[in-house]
Amino acid sequence: MPVASRDLVKARAWSPRLAFASTLVWAAIFAFSTPSLGQDKAELDIGGATLSISFDSATTPEFRQLTLDWITRAANAVTVYYTRFPVRHVDISIHVASGRAVGPGRASGERGPHIHVALGSGVTARSLAEGGNNWLMTHEMVHLALSSVEEEHHWIEEGLATYVEPIARVRAGELSAQQVWRDMIEGMPQGEPAPGDRGLDHTPTWGRTYWGGAMFCLLADVEIRRKTNNRMGLENALRGIVAEGGTIDTEWGLSKVLETGDRAIGVPVLVPLYDKMKDDSNPVNLESLWKELGVEEKDRTVVFRDDAPLAAVRKAIMSP
Ligand SMILES: [Zn+2]
Repeated sequence: MPVASRDLVKARAWSPRLAFASTLVWAAIFAFSTPSLGQDKAELDIGGATLSISFDSATTPEFRQLTLDWITRAANAVTVYYTRFPVRHVDISIHVASGRAVGPGRASGERGPHIHVALGSGVTARSLAEGGNNWLMTHEMVHLALSSVEEEHHWIEEGLATYVEPIARVRAGELSAQQVWRDMIEGMPQGEPAPGDRGLDHTPTWGRTYWGGAMFCLLADVEIRRKTNNRMGLENALRGIVAEGGTIDTEWGLSKVLETGDRAIGVPVLVPLYDKMKDDSNPVNLESLWKELGVEEKDRTVVFRDDAPLAAVRKAIMSP
């Protein structure tokens, strides 16, 4: 069965119980929503796309503006990464909640590209820039840039959003490369196989889905750059997939997605890497990868080593 909608939680403290709670939250939101959501609407033109935004209840001018600014920053970051916004039109439904929480959120494509996000009316400019889940809108927009694939490959959808979202925001000048490498060093070990693992296609745990998928993307990015003397990166494969129409409102097999990406870069990387990792329960040697890339964690931040063999690759990953 194709995946009807993606998302929601990337937080480290995620648990199946929380996911279930989130499902209940959505059930509650939809129970009170009518098909023609929106007492308040806005439209933004960014990256060649029209973003139609609707709020499900009346908003203050301040809240409305903060929300539109947040959406604009996310759309700009995604546009920088993909060179255009991945779809021509997206509906964004904002559920105005009480409190200050950002999320949950989800992206779907079965009735056209659509993002749903719950946002507390107490959010501030600061919480949307630095607070928990501030990444959520960019994450959902990255989901638009990939075809809906079968459930067993859900890791590619979440992994890609987990990997691309912070890189897009570094390229747009919103985050520092140090911060993102540090998050990868700290977060990615959660994507390693645990005892009983049967490979990415057969181990639908949170860690393997989000960080295991992100690890696949990092390995692909490094390998593409290695094979093309750093002329191309994962973004070129992803732009190729978008250019061929492989966006969230289509249902493609994963082979078609990966073959299209490989064709765009002119070297086979995604297909062979998938063939290797889909059933593989061996860990990736992340320690040695960080060393080759020249990133070292020190006192809660990272330092870069420019004499590392893949230092140029490391720099290119974060550069526009
Ligand atoms: Zn997601």
